[in-house]
Amino acid sequence: MNTALHTAAKAAPKNTRGRNGAIAFAALAAAVVALVVLLPMQGYTVHILVQTATFGIAVFGLTIVLGLCGQINLAQAAFFGFGAYAVGLGTTDLHLNFWVALAMGAAVALVMGGFLGMTTLKLGGHYLAMVTISFQQIVTLIMVNWIPVTHGPDGVGKITRPELFQSSQAFLGLCVAAMALIGYLVWRLPQTPLGRAMRAVRDNELAAGVAGVDVYRVKVAAFALSAVLGGIGGGLFAGGFAYVSPDQFSFAESIVLITMTLLGGVASPVGALIGTGLLIVLPESLRFLKSVPGLYLAIYGLSIVLIIRYMPDGIWGFVQDRVRRWLAPPPFTDAPADLMLAPPGQAATADAPMALEVQGLAKHFGGVKAVDDISFSVRRGSVHALIGPNGSGKTTTLNVLSGIYTGTAGRILLGGQDVTALPPHARTAAGLGRTFQNIRLFRSMTALENVIIGAEHPGNEIGKGHEALVERARAALAFVGLEARAQELVTGFSYGHQRLIEIARALAGNPTLLLLDEPAAGLNSSEKVGLQDLLKRIAAKGLTILIIDHDMTLVTEVAERITVLNFGRRIADGVAADVLRQPDVIAAYLGSEPDAPDFA
Ligand code: ADP
Ligand code: MG
Repeated sequence: MNTALHTAAKAAPKNTRGRNGAIAFAALAAAVVALVVLLPMQGYTVHILVQTATFGIAVFGLTIVLGLCGQINLAQAAFFGFGAYAVGLGTTDLHLNFWVALAMGAAVALVMGGFLGMTTLKLGGHYLAMVTISFQQIVTLIMVNWIPVTHGPDGVGKITRPELFQSSQAFLGLCVAAMALIGYLVWRLPQTPLGRAMRAVRDNELAAGVAGVDVYRVKVAAFALSAVLGGIGGGLFAGGFAYVSPDQFSFAESIVLITMTLLGGVASPVGALIGTGLLIVLPESLRFLKSVPGLYLAIYGLSIVLIIRYMPDGIWGFVQDRVRRWLAPPPFTDAPADLMLAPPGQAATADAPMALEVQGLAKHFGGVKAVDDISFSVRRGSVHALIGPNGSGKTTTLNVLSGIYTGTAGRILLGGQDVTALPPHARTAAGLGRTFQNIRLFRSMTALENVIIGAEHPGNEIGKGHEALVERARAALAFVGLEARAQELVTGFSYGHQRLIEIARALAGNPTLLLLDEPAAGLNSSEKVGLQDLLKRIAAKGLTILIIDHDMTLVTEVAERITVLNFGRRIADGVAADVLRQPDVIAAYLGSEPDAPDFA
């Protein structure tokens, strides 16, 4: 009730602000469109502006795939070409209406982009770059050599425009309006669930999956969106210039589009526009140097190198850094709600159902049996510790439990549900939450944004909408004692506090089982006391915890049961006090190995 009131009170001013912003932007865009349509202009200026607007739309696509999602696409010129050839061939050879041809171009780009993404995004990194280059080359070859359809190197001429936009300036108005609308949507994207998920994937792919993001789906979506914007840009380009040929959509053009993105600022449509404008205007304005051979290219190249060297986040990134103070969101004025965690169901009695059952789990890396036939169960509502010397397979066990690694053998039951074959985000939806031994936060985001991503997954029923997510995330941050700094970037927090933000991110997802990998590592003694208190408060809420730690004081203080690993095998399992008395456990911890392990 209290929460609902808070939400209603806060929702109103925020929505109004968003609406006012949209209206102001629409008014500005309308004014610019009117200006480019009505102002007397030379044909040359119109030419430059049409080029900027249509390339700009394609570069917005790269802002999404590269800037927001961190995936490389070196084939944007090919997608641009799909749109251009669809409009070119559609309005001439096929006698289609301009809009139908444009829609077809966008659709072809979408399908090809989605297909390329689906087949290659599992590769990632350099492989992805290589596959997109090959795709780009294949498309160019087809444009040049499939002469009966594409007209080959001669290209396609006499491309027509829609009825209403026959004059060059009217068509320029159309391009600018399209660019403004798309630019606005791309500008808003980072604050939507999909955009947030893309940024999470870019910042830390593993953590994104574990926080509940369907990494593969998000990457394919980014790739397909990028391609469709390429297609739309290309279609308008063809209408603007009435002539297209294969060399306009070559690999070199893909590089130009990427350079535009990086130059202006990779993660914002404002940067995209700056980069596009600059790379179109710069060569034009250096034309007078053409009398001295080589000088033109040298100055052009040097300017780009200098900008990228001294403004690594692009021109807009550089400007933004200096105005961030004024763009900072206002602080929260109300108190956060209390963090609700899933009701425990049953107390931790002997016959309570198991929160987690691990049966015969194994993970081999080639000959290394990092985890070898491990079985144990975690009772609902209990704190269970997984201990063992360094390299004994604890982290690997957690990675197999959370789906980062696929086990070599064994079964994992989460609250009775078999999750062995599920990807990380689906296990999160099924009730798993975890933190990492090496902190994995989304480093370009605020503490609040990090925790919102943890809260945002289909298994977490906290009510719909952004306000509910913010409430949930603030409650989780308050629970770990960091709510007052919610709007600060995570990179500004101390190591110990970053660990707490990671715990808050896991808690916000409302897990039924929380996996903690050495949460006390790297903390000073007062931070350790604080952590111990936090773990007790989490346990008091009835949440089941599986914790890995070296700190025996912490383990004996919080854990009821302990499973001990050594060389990937389970050497003990049971009630804490009993386990710690066993001779082979003591031996493993004192370092005198009981039996030489068999690595064969
Ligand atoms: P712990 O967390 O108990 O210190 P780990 O689970 O990190 O131990 O490691 C267990 C063993 O598995 C170590 O011998 C380690 O070198 C090996 N290992 C872990 N991850 C990999 C990997 N990705 N590839 C190869 N070997 C690995
Ligand atoms: Mg470890």
